[in-house]
Amino acid sequence: MKNEKTCTICDRPRLEKSYCTFHRTAYENLKRGFKKWKYAYVSITYEDYLLRILTIKETGKWVRDVALHQMKKTELAAKVVSN
Ligand SMILES: [Zn+2]
Repeated sequence: MKNEKTCTICDRPRLEKSYCTFHRTAYENLKRGFKKWKYAYVSITYEDYLLRILTIKETGKWVRDVALHQMKKTELAAKVVSN
């Protein structure tokens, strides 16, 4: 089991909640991005958004890590891993 004081994705020290400074920033960007996407595609779900983010080449490593981590909480994770 992982030390509770480290990020849930990597082994860097965590800030508040569950991410380190890099993944925390990526998470904020992810959330901000979702708001924009929701504005453009009204019916998009968070899971759809994560899936799309992961298929875009331009998505940075940190954001990709967080998106994958978020997806692990959903059934879609299995889909992405098997692709
Ligand atoms: Zn981290």
